[in-house]
Amino acid sequence: TKGAAMVTAVASRVQAQRKQIDKVLALFQLTREQLDGVQHKMRAELEYGLKRKTHALATVKMLPTYVCGMPDGTEKGKFLALDLGGTNFRVLLVKIRSGRKSVRMYNKIFAIPLEIMQGTGEELFDHIVQCIADFLDYMGLKGAQLPLGFTFSFPCRQTSIDRGTLVGWTKGFKATDCEGEDVVDMLREAIKRRNEFDLDIVAVVNDTVGTMMTCGYEDPNCEIGLIAGTGSNVCYMEEMRNIELVEGDEGKMCINTEWGGFGDNDCIDDIRTQYDKEVDEGSLNPGKQRYEKMTSGMYLGEIVRQILIDLTKQGLLFRGQISERLRTRGIFETKFLSQIESDRLALLQVRRILQQLGLDSTCEDSIVVKEVCGAVSRRAAQLCGAGLAAIVEKRREDQGLEHLKITVGVDGTLYKLHPHFSRVLQETVKELAPRCDVGFMLSEDGSGKGAALITAVAKRLQQPRKE
Ligand code: BGC
Ligand code: MG
Repeated sequence: TKGAAMVTAVASRVQAQRKQIDKVLALFQLTREQLDGVQHKMRAELEYGLKRKTHALATVKMLPTYVCGMPDGTEKGKFLALDLGGTNFRVLLVKIRSGRKSVRMYNKIFAIPLEIMQGTGEELFDHIVQCIADFLDYMGLKGAQLPLGFTFSFPCRQTSIDRGTLVGWTKGFKATDCEGEDVVDMLREAIKRRNEFDLDIVAVVNDTVGTMMTCGYEDPNCEIGLIAGTGSNVCYMEEMRNIELVEGDEGKMCINTEWGGFGDNDCIDDIRTQYDKEVDEGSLNPGKQRYEKMTSGMYLGEIVRQILIDLTKQGLLFRGQISERLRTRGIFETKFLSQIESDRLALLQVRRILQQLGLDSTCEDSIVVKEVCGAVSRRAAQLCGAGLAAIVEKRREDQGLEHLKITVGVDGTLYKLHPHFSRVLQETVKELAPRCDVGFMLSEDGSGKGAALITAVAKRLQQPRKE
């Protein structure tokens, strides 16, 4: 009977621990009501951003992009494209042939060392130009004067397709003296400093816009671009009459929503957890991009890490020992979350991944870690879905339709690599916007191809003016 008593004692302790873990996980389980709330608040913020009177204070910036139409298939030529702000920095050569709509691309990935991402603006742009020079050399294109499209995946205030002032850095960038400056000017000046070649910078483009364009090239229903990757953002085609910041009422223009800033006015504080706040406080831009910090690859692993630290403190994980590793920022990259959550993975393999990350786990630990990852990524996908539901519903209402059929072009490591994110996102949109039939189209290299397509269109429109 003494043995039996001990078994009962252990069982009830296990039960108590389970309760504590469930309590933490429950913070991440959003009710239908909460998701409705997110959708409706997002909708309100979209309107604030578009209106002249409220725009300056809006957290969802709704930036006009001066991209007004989709490529029509007649685009052609050779273009250079730069892709800055995603997982990798790349320089690309894109060859577009009209008629058969074939696009060929050659690209090279370059590293941007941390000290350059967070150094001075001049150093950053000199580095970019150095990479362009290497690429031209490598492709045997030295001296060629090609039109260039710059995919710059940060919020930019544009007054034309080839001008864009950086509103503020996001994600892992923090180079000095860039905010409030025109990124095209900064690039031109760096090219001048090097004094080795000349380039015709035709367009500066957000990655969401490039993604929408790339998918729009094949599917004319594609009027939304979504990135769920290192960062999170959406663009979509809006009626000109609703865009109060831009003169004119005819036709449509693509709006870069910069929805990552949603919540920066505390409007979703009811669903933010202490872990979200810790991640925000430890980031490069505290207080900013709060929605992005709950939905994108750069931060999900950090939320997981904060939860694991707390569970360990409560004695519920890793034998209560917080290792140096667990204290290290950035250990859980998206690819590890994706691996840990893969259904095909046995728990032993989860333990092996944790081992690789330097975390010694028991079998029970690995179960908990997997649950934590699942809760965090599921909430991210649902939040992203609620945001998207707000956009498609707005489009449906604005067009006075009972039913809207629309395609979203998507890119980003989280969407592409995570085993459940895309499914949960799609299910959520369906739930929350039942009158919209939303198709999802994976973009193949939207940042490169899209920038080139936009450059091609801009170049075509520019010709008559110049001659
Ligand atoms: C940036 C957006 C970008 C998104 C995805 C965000 O941090 O502010 O401009 O589209 O990341 O790369
Ligand atoms: Mg207008």
